[in-house]
Amino acid sequence: MARSKKTMDGNEAAAHAAYIFTDTAAIYPITPSSPMAEHTDEWATQGRKNYFGKTVKIVEMESEAGASGTVHGSLVAGALTSTYTASQGLLLMIPNLYKIAGERLPGVINVAARCVASHALNIFGDHSDVYACRQAGCAMLCESSVQEVMDLTPVAYLSAIKGRLPFINFFDGFRTSHEIQKIDIWSNEDFDDIIDLKAIEEFKANALNPNHPCEMGSAQNPDIFFQSRESCNVVYDELPAIVQEYMDKINAKIGTDYKLFNYYGAADATHVIVAMGSVNDTIEETIDYLAEKGEKVGLIKVRLYRPFSVQAFLDAIPATAKTISVLDRTKEPGSIDEPLALDVKSALMSDPKFKDVTVLCGRYGLGSKDTTPEQIVAVYHNTDKKKFTLGINDDVTHLSLDAGAPLVTTPEGTVCCKFWGLGADGTVGANKNSIKIIGDNTDMYAQAYFDYDSKKSGGITMSHLRFGKKAIKSTYLIHKANFVACHNAAYVRKYNMVQELVDGGTFLLNCPWTGEELDKHLPGQVKKYMYDHKIKFYTINGTKLGIESGMGPTRINTILQSAFFKLTGIIPEEKAIELMKAAAKKTYGLKGDDVVQKNWNAIDLGATGVVEVAIPDSWANGKDEGLDYPAATKGSQAQKDFVNNIQIPVSSQEGNGIPVSVVKTYMTGDTPSGTAAYEKRGVSVAVPVWNPDTCIECQQCSYVCPHAAIRSIALTEEEAKNAPADMQLKDLTGMPGYKFAIVVSQMDCLGCGSCANVCPANKAPKNVEAGIKTLAMQTLDDELKAQQKYFDYAVELDPKQEVVDKFGLDTVKGSQFKQPYLEFSGACAGCGETPYAKLITQLYGDRMYFNLG
Ligand code: SF4
Ligand code: SF4
Repeated sequence: MARSKKTMDGNEAAAHAAYIFTDTAAIYPITPSSPMAEHTDEWATQGRKNYFGKTVKIVEMESEAGASGTVHGSLVAGALTSTYTASQGLLLMIPNLYKIAGERLPGVINVAARCVASHALNIFGDHSDVYACRQAGCAMLCESSVQEVMDLTPVAYLSAIKGRLPFINFFDGFRTSHEIQKIDIWSNEDFDDIIDLKAIEEFKANALNPNHPCEMGSAQNPDIFFQSRESCNVVYDELPAIVQEYMDKINAKIGTDYKLFNYYGAADATHVIVAMGSVNDTIEETIDYLAEKGEKVGLIKVRLYRPFSVQAFLDAIPATAKTISVLDRTKEPGSIDEPLALDVKSALMSDPKFKDVTVLCGRYGLGSKDTTPEQIVAVYHNTDKKKFTLGINDDVTHLSLDAGAPLVTTPEGTVCCKFWGLGADGTVGANKNSIKIIGDNTDMYAQAYFDYDSKKSGGITMSHLRFGKKAIKSTYLIHKANFVACHNAAYVRKYNMVQELVDGGTFLLNCPWTGEELDKHLPGQVKKYMYDHKIKFYTINGTKLGIESGMGPTRINTILQSAFFKLTGIIPEEKAIELMKAAAKKTYGLKGDDVVQKNWNAIDLGATGVVEVAIPDSWANGKDEGLDYPAATKGSQAQKDFVNNIQIPVSSQEGNGIPVSVVKTYMTGDTPSGTAAYEKRGVSVAVPVWNPDTCIECQQCSYVCPHAAIRSIALTEEEAKNAPADMQLKDLTGMPGYKFAIVVSQMDCLGCGSCANVCPANKAPKNVEAGIKTLAMQTLDDELKAQQKYFDYAVELDPKQEVVDKFGLDTVKGSQFKQPYLEFSGACAGCGETPYAKLITQLYGDRMYFNLG
């Protein structure tokens, strides 16, 4: 049976399939599962119909505990009910899961599995949340890819209905929930010959109903509770067969081969991995690579994790297996082994045929640590470490397996592209758009994954896009690319990005530089790499073209997207432009023709604005200048250690190489405060420039800045005399003998413009008439960067309590002469929350507890 194709991520795939079988959805948002609830809500609002011809009823609750309580109540009332969650949200549901399972109610909890916060918050993917629920009595079905989420989510629902048990239907947070793939999708009619309407009728007939009253949720004492609990054994014994029955029906329909445990690899494999989740695709890709080298290796993919069918698992193991490595994506401190490894060992003990098989147990991928083909090769080649970890350097307990240099295991013809963008600059949105254009308009497979640092915006974004004629199983980040685009010129000295290009690859740099300027700004190691590896080098002046297109200097995403299509030739240029314009019309049509036209201008300018740069022979001699992260030399020893050992490698995207011995100092998650001041990112396109002649010293600018990057400073005559040359000062009104300055940390400013927008002097009629701005946003160039020294000098000056007292701490003016203790936050540019938090620290100093949730 052929299904229609669509390009979407795992969350949308889960929501799409779940909608078909859902009467009621109880929702509460939590990353990375929120889009499942959002899609369901949106479709219900649009009137989309489920299998039963009804619109899903959405109930939004105040927490996940409330959502799971609603699921429970809704199921008891006879509605097929879904929810969507992750991490602590799932853990909040646990008490209700016991009830839902104990009462044999067929709800489905769709989970984008995510790390549970321990010493630190981590919003990324692992299995610590789902493992924490394995005792609650829900069946647990796992999918490894976006396509599998679409294919198997119905199995969870259909089996829940027939088996009369709830399911936790889970897949990897971020790696699957947010990975975009072109997939085959279900329609309601596809289930006409599969859905068990009689079972649904029975479930509804059994619901609490005044026509046949009964009592639920009674209390039981020691005399009968235990044996009542044992009475459900048979239900769990029968469930695996029901799940397999539905997998078989789906296999017959769409030509797949889903089993409770799927085997992949050599029929005579000697070393077999057992794993669950998105890592399975990477393992499959690695098996294909190793098979070409004659290695006999295999994989058992766990799909139905609970109830764990021992027989189905044993049947999947090739008789030749001598070693089984079990990969668990969690850490249970103090446990003998991790959960899946315990299951595997226990299952093997039940059959003497496997008594000589060696079982090795590994942890991988915690908090979305990338798991790569070379790490999987290391697992297959490991024979001596009985317990191991992947992807880290554990130089304390020495559990980690060494992996070599990045391997290229993707099928021939796969094109890998990586884009380095600034958070909120639109790069991610443009790439999502691109992948849909490619996926929906060519016969190519397409995959996109987006990697972020933890800054809310103004941080770094890395978009990983792959295309090819063969299915893409690479569920890991790109470290060998055919095309790299750098959307922010400041990045060339901050990240090793060009060095990830394959020989002859293409590098596109968004910058205003040409000729000698390029020679000056590019570090020696980048120039040498481009020369040595015959890189095709192009530049584009996105800021200038943004202004020309009418989009403005920071709206470069469409321009860069257009340049990408031109340079890669994935789709013929004319066709690509036509498709991009159609997409822009669809996205911005409601905002008016003017906005659409500006986007179209940007598309045209992006395609024509790329400039090829001939790489001069002199670049062959480029010297390694290192990355632009000055070591911390000031501050406390604790601050210096943290900045130099952790913050700098993390900021430069080299954090994966930090060994356990270094992070051990911060085992409990405590780190020194005040270290954001060392980052000095310099990523803003434009920064404010102060004009003392028209300033009225109201200090609204420093009051509203979300990042404490603009400050009001009072100086004594002596301090004014010692100030750096050319630092602009004026007399402080009302305080004879004092000078005043507004200073800007250009390297910390995120260019939101809030200060310039609020400045009342900008709006004074005489200034407006004369075209004078007291605070004017200007492009951050070298000259402005050099003015950082004024800020650096000013913030070191002694506090002036007498100035605060004069104007009053309870006034905007007085408060802004106080040192803020929340500086250079990673919040979104223009955040409305951090100015208040910053102000509280100015009002109450450092004698308070502060929790920003
Ligand atoms: S532009 Fe925004 S971040 Fe920069 S100084 Fe002004 S308010 Fe602060
Ligand atoms: S908001 Fe404008 S007028 Fe007020 S202190 Fe800042 S620069 Fe001066």
